[in-house]
Amino acid sequence: MTTMKIECPCCDGEIHARHTEGLSDTMRRMYFVCEDCGYRTPAGFEILFSLSASAKPRADVSLEVRPSPRLRGGVNARTTRALARATC
Ligand SMILES: [Zn+2]
Repeated sequence: MTTMKIECPCCDGEIHARHTEGLSDTMRRMYFVCEDCGYRTPAGFEILFSLSASAKPRADVSLEVRPSPRLRGGVNARTTRALARATC
């Protein structure tokens, strides 16, 4: 099973999501643990908008569609950081 992991803000290791809690249809709270330094933290995860419309939309979930070119390759914390640096 694949788990979400991001850079540890304390030691530059990786913190792994160990548990998630649903807050709404589009928001989750994730609990991360760093095996290198023992740091533990909750973090928020939210679906902000849609890049393409769903083929099976739910009437009770409204997400604006903002079309965008398809992303290529895997997207992770390092990819996002590299993109942020490239656009600054
Ligand atoms: Zn750490």
